[in-house]
Amino acid sequence: MSNAILVVGGGFSGLTAAIEAAELGHDVYLVEKSPWLGGRVAQLNKYFPKLCPPSCGLEIQFQRIRKNPLIHCLTMAQVVGLSGSKGQYNVRVRISPRHTPPHNVDFTFLASTLEGETPSEFDLGLAGRKALYKSMPFAYPPRFVLDPETLSKSDMVRIAGQDKLDLKEEEREIELEVGSIVIATGWKPYDVTKLSNLGAGNVKNCISNMQLERLASPFGPTQGKIVRPTDGRTPHSVAFVQCAGSRDQNHLNYCSYICCMATLKHCLYLAEQNPDTQVTVFYIDLRAPGRYVKVLEKVQALPNVHFIKGKVANATQARNDCVEIQAEDAIRGEKLTLQYDLVVLATGMQPSLATEDLPLPVARDADGFIVGGEEAGIFAAGCAVMPLDVTRSAQSATAAALKAVQTVKGR
Ligand code: SF4
Repeated sequence: MSNAILVVGGGFSGLTAAIEAAELGHDVYLVEKSPWLGGRVAQLNKYFPKLCPPSCGLEIQFQRIRKNPLIHCLTMAQVVGLSGSKGQYNVRVRISPRHTPPHNVDFTFLASTLEGETPSEFDLGLAGRKALYKSMPFAYPPRFVLDPETLSKSDMVRIAGQDKLDLKEEEREIELEVGSIVIATGWKPYDVTKLSNLGAGNVKNCISNMQLERLASPFGPTQGKIVRPTDGRTPHSVAFVQCAGSRDQNHLNYCSYICCMATLKHCLYLAEQNPDTQVTVFYIDLRAPGRYVKVLEKVQALPNVHFIKGKVANATQARNDCVEIQAEDAIRGEKLTLQYDLVVLATGMQPSLATEDLPLPVARDADGFIVGGEEAGIFAAGCAVMPLDVTRSAQSATAAALKAVQTVKGR
């Protein structure tokens, strides 16, 4: 019987579950497919409930992980096989090569001399990244990654004499023995290229709410200035399109829970940066659960933020890289055609497992959220189960960790 616990996913839920289980004395293997921990929260400028920057919550988690020898972090790693049963699982994990040393080597200067570039996954395509890169200053583990695919011919010459980079490092597989499993695979923003009526990602200056977070982040492509991607100009008018892909049987057939609050937060960002910007929020319902209603009231009191109850039918390109939207004002019964400098699609939350495979014996519902699995000692947490905010994700992760601990203790 194994006393160890596997946590799949290194976002806020996975980190929380790993720390809770390890601090109760269990070995924990934390498997994360990307090069760094922190998940979606790391990409935000600020997060609820306190609207603090991600560094504030994540750095505490990273410190607890750094100090706890029972937590074994495996990044660029994916579960590829599972055998055994509750209490005694054998898990096969495939680890992709990082091509950089296991300790922290600062490659900032070398990275800046490289030429090859590809769209940054972390900045959601709003900027490029080099072949040798780190997502942000407080990334954990604090190691660079080398992506050989992005190296240009001259980059190959530049790195040729670097004995700290290992281009020959290969993918490898390891086996772990664990007694129970927590799945915290999180969510991804709904793919805007599926929203053909809203420009399908092709209309200039029509961005997603997660892209707005990257613009507002001091570590983002514009060092925190919310500007139009095409010309770097401060937008004088901004529209938010709520439920972009959510509550729609052709896309996400549920309310994504977080996007109303995200838009209210974005209204506060805009009011802080440029109080003269005129903001319009097109909504079907405004969902501000519990104490968040105070945030809604605060935003409703802002003089330059206007709310229109009505669905946006179309977003198309207009002159000067503006965006024209056609919408309905459901209260006045009017059809509206309006132009904005910047349009933000409040895209919803889709569970990562809606489009990915995970070789674990758990059922998923039609939307990709995990249902069941507990009888097998496998516990889902956070947005792998349902759309949740950060606080509720952490609560759900703590609950899953405690169930995982009880499973291995009770045998
Ligand atoms: Fe629509 Fe708001 Fe629900 Fe998001 S949280 S799906 S914007 S009602």
